[in-house]
Amino acid sequence: MELSPKLAAKFELLQNRYPVKRSALVPMMLYAQDEYGYISDEMVNELASRLDLRPVEVEETLAYYSMLHRKPIGKHHVQVCTNVACMLRGGAQLLQHAKKRLEIGHKETTQDGVFSLEEVECIGACTGAPAIQVNYDYYENLTPLKFDRIIEELDNGSHPAPVPVITGALRERNALEIPLISKRWGIKDSHKIDVYLQNGGYQALEKALKQMTPESIIDEVKKSSLRGRGGAGFPTGMKWSFVPKDSPKPKYVICNADESEPGSCKDRPLMEMDPHQLIEGIIIAGRAIDAHRGFIYIRGEYRYVLDIVDAAIAEAYARGYLGNNILGSGFDFDLLIHTGAGAYECGEESALMESLEGKRGYPRIKPPFPAIVGLYGCPTIINNVESLSSVPAIILEGGEAYANRGTPKNGGTRLLCVSGHVHKPGIYEIPLGMNMKKFIYEVAGGIRGGKKLKAVIPGGSSCPFLKADEIDIPMDYDSLAKAGSMLGSGGMVVMDEDTCMVDMARRIMHFYAHESCGWCIPCREGTSWLCKMLERFHAGFGRLEDIDMVGDLAKNMLGRTFCPLGDAAAMPTISIVTKFRSEFEDHLHGRCAYKSAEALVGSR
Ligand code: SF4
Repeated sequence: MELSPKLAAKFELLQNRYPVKRSALVPMMLYAQDEYGYISDEMVNELASRLDLRPVEVEETLAYYSMLHRKPIGKHHVQVCTNVACMLRGGAQLLQHAKKRLEIGHKETTQDGVFSLEEVECIGACTGAPAIQVNYDYYENLTPLKFDRIIEELDNGSHPAPVPVITGALRERNALEIPLISKRWGIKDSHKIDVYLQNGGYQALEKALKQMTPESIIDEVKKSSLRGRGGAGFPTGMKWSFVPKDSPKPKYVICNADESEPGSCKDRPLMEMDPHQLIEGIIIAGRAIDAHRGFIYIRGEYRYVLDIVDAAIAEAYARGYLGNNILGSGFDFDLLIHTGAGAYECGEESALMESLEGKRGYPRIKPPFPAIVGLYGCPTIINNVESLSSVPAIILEGGEAYANRGTPKNGGTRLLCVSGHVHKPGIYEIPLGMNMKKFIYEVAGGIRGGKKLKAVIPGGSSCPFLKADEIDIPMDYDSLAKAGSMLGSGGMVVMDEDTCMVDMARRIMHFYAHESCGWCIPCREGTSWLCKMLERFHAGFGRLEDIDMVGDLAKNMLGRTFCPLGDAAAMPTISIVTKFRSEFEDHLHGRCAYKSAEALVGSR
């Protein structure tokens, strides 16, 4: 197959940069699709021959990822998010408007091939909801009028300016914030190495390489009480200490930048505005576990962020912070950024490694855990963007000082992205343990329109809901667990008194049914049955016995699946059915007290 010089060069680069060739498959497919609009049979054969695979192996990987297409899509692919944060700000209505304006439905293309439309899951723009992506460009805080203007400009051949930085990250600081890992946000050109160096950058790496041993780095991170910011909250230092020192195999550091939990969008600004902080944290992690190679696995939707981080990696190589003999220390470390292609499941660490190896993102059975058998069968640590971005501050100021910013066993600061019905949606850095009520009313500005608060999802759509009278609690991992919920990935979604909780349950389950990889029966069947039941309930065709059945079905999924997605689907559902049962009973009379049914039912 004859390729353009640009794509041929990209393919050459990709197929030679991984320890195992197949790892290049997903990025190669995505870049091929960028050029041709879809993956043709010819391209499948081309990829197979370049990567020493059979065409069927390319096909089976291709079919797994939602961003990859086997048929041509429009020149401008309009993707409207209707997941929880966008839903609360009119995402479903925007989708209806888009259908009328473009005169096409979900996954359809206009006759002239200029536009295609797709209703998508969370695109990581929760604080700028409702949001869309056109190809890779983000447009946030949309109204039907703004949407029409974007379409008109595209139709006229111009390029409407996308958001330069995620909405809600750049704003006046609240006095209750403690900017530590977000302190460079808003500084002009903060993503560039010179600005990073002028503002304290790479000093922690110098200290770690010249004054510390791998053991003392791990000790410092243990002292900091840093817990994984991706959702599970596992102590980071302890995770690093599990890597065997005597393994003859290479060791790897992976940064999980597959931020896909609905409600969560804080890794995006960390990478777009301070990529060197993350790179520095990854190199220090490599030094701590004696790894010499790292990968940043970023979700496919964040293409412009990938380009920013890629440029930062190149700068770090040019200045001697990556590569051989870093800062004359004798330590070598290589880093590359790898793109996913649309699969929430790849945020789970073992599924992410499968995906990085160029396969479908199916989770692995544990044990063995990645610290022993990880990427390419070698010892691997996987940490979230926010966790790794916190490492330079820990090394510089010391683990104890970092820990003292939070509460016991919950060290440091936390980025919270708050969306939904608050006055000031945004991404805020607060000390762990801040009171949730205080945060919602004094930092996020309270409930908009003078409404009353009804419910809060504290840390992303997989967390159990809290009612308005349950939020007078400290926000740290242990306090939220005690309150029956989780801090999760820091994606707080706030709902006012007019929110239909049956509709929330329906939309959340729709997401998990869409994202279930189908491997285990309780998740595959459970999410799809629950989705059907909740859709029916919300449309006014529910039965009294369904209310208990929804709760029972969800409880039967808990703890019975290979990966946490089954629990993630079950937990919010159980909390909604238990805490807001009366709203389900209201729907038995065929009405939605909150008037959202007619706008949403059959939205696809
Ligand atoms: Fe796949 Fe769901 Fe099972 Fe996870 S819980 S392995 S997503 S079927």
